[in-house]
Amino acid sequence: MLKPIRNSIQCKKCGEIISSFSTHDFKYCSCHSVAVDGGFDYMRVTGSPVDYTDLSIFEDKDGVIGTINEVNEFVLIDTLTLVKNNYEHLFLEFFKQYNATYDFNGSLDFAELQVGIENMSVITENEISIPVEKFISLFNEIFLTENDYYQPADIFLAFRNRIIYASK
Ligand SMILES: [Zn+2]
Repeated sequence: MLKPIRNSIQCKKCGEIISSFSTHDFKYCSCHSVAVDGGFDYMRVTGSPVDYTDLSIFEDKDGVIGTINEVNEFVLIDTLTLVKNNYEHLFLEFFKQYNATYDFNGSLDFAELQVGIENMSVITENEISIPVEKFISLFNEIFLTENDYYQPADIFLAFRNRIIYASK
């Protein structure tokens, strides 16, 4: 069973990128040729496959991150490439929101995660390329193994998925 981390397509007629963010979040593109639904539970596309580019990302039951190719096979992704500013923004926003909601000072671990990711990645002026497997194990090492401390775990998983979501 594949779970969407990014439930998105781009319409080839109008060019709009549409994304579904929750189970019944049914979204049409502006020319109404294609639509997506299912959020992070399942992906359902309305319209002809010739009319859209699939931008979805999935996680399988073993935690492998991948995409679906033209012949409907699950293909693993080995690198996430993000715009550097977006990547930095995600960390800043998450840290602010988490502290505001849970009144918890996890700045050292957030900094450790951020530096850890940067150390394993290839960084250019505008982009950061993160190896997925190392990223996931680092993330789990910091947050999921100390799950008494880092609660609720869903919040951290959602943050991890937001980084995956932001990749190109
Ligand atoms: Zn369209």
